[in-house]
Amino acid sequence: MFENTTMLITGGSRGIGASTAVLAAERGAKVFINYRSNHEAADAVVDACRSVGGRAEALAGDIRLESDVLAMFAACTKHFGPPTTLVNNAGILHRLDRVENYTAERLHEVVNVNIVGAFLCVREAVKAMSTKHGGSGGTIVNVSSAAAYLGSPNEYVDYAATKGAMDTMTLGLAKEVADEGIRVNAVRPGLIETDIHEGDRLERLWRNIPMQRVGQPDEVAEAILFLASPASSYVNGSLLNVSGAR
Ligand code: NAP
Repeated sequence: MFENTTMLITGGSRGIGASTAVLAAERGAKVFINYRSNHEAADAVVDACRSVGGRAEALAGDIRLESDVLAMFAACTKHFGPPTTLVNNAGILHRLDRVENYTAERLHEVVNVNIVGAFLCVREAVKAMSTKHGGSGGTIVNVSSAAAYLGSPNEYVDYAATKGAMDTMTLGLAKEVADEGIRVNAVRPGLIETDIHEGDRLERLWRNIPMQRVGQPDEVAEAILFLASPASSYVNGSLLNVSGAR
């Protein structure tokens, strides 16, 4: 299904990004993985992609830094050609806390990774894919969050707000590049079993989910790959909840 796809995945060393990388490699995509600093985890994902018969490379880079984002797109292009899919997945959250306790440093960091970094990545993806720039089109899948519509009170309203911004970016960008061969959609995962959660948060909260369980990274990866693939050829500007009905 992804034989002609070069997929650049930010935050691909762990969690949802890692699952997406391995599934995409298994289905024929050439996978280029960005991550921040966990070289061991990134190497393991590259090995997993290769062990299912796929091609994969990884490069460390902080999506907050324009130079790192440019370097990741250049390295992807060198290895596999320009990306035809961007999975805009890297994201962070901070300790569970109320808004009145947020430091300026915390706010700058979450906004810089989840919004500025995500924007730098879609900017480069549009330059690589748009028919207006000589590209042959592509797909962008933003990894937002159910937090965008829940608001995450007493936990991380700042993170939730950045995901709300990502949803708005998805809607605007989808319209902006719709006639340039690029589709832009988002997934909004709910509680997914990855390292991002603090302490026993998953154990405390799974009962609030109508399906009565947390989700697995592969279940989000399947939704991402649907939006990245020709199977969703007329789906554009959509926000797909992957949250067990929460
Ligand atoms: P995770 O397990 O914590 O993994 C985060 C990934 O992002 C890692 O690969 C990490 O690299 C990378 N990363 C972090 N900051 C980065 C930066 N500045 N530049 C480049 N890469 C960076 O996270 P996850 O749970 O899979 O979450 C992935 C996405 O899904 C995030 O956008 C998150 O907001 C969203 N999401 C997750 C859930 C959930 O319940 N898990 C729910 C809704 C939405 P290193 O390994 O090098 O640190």
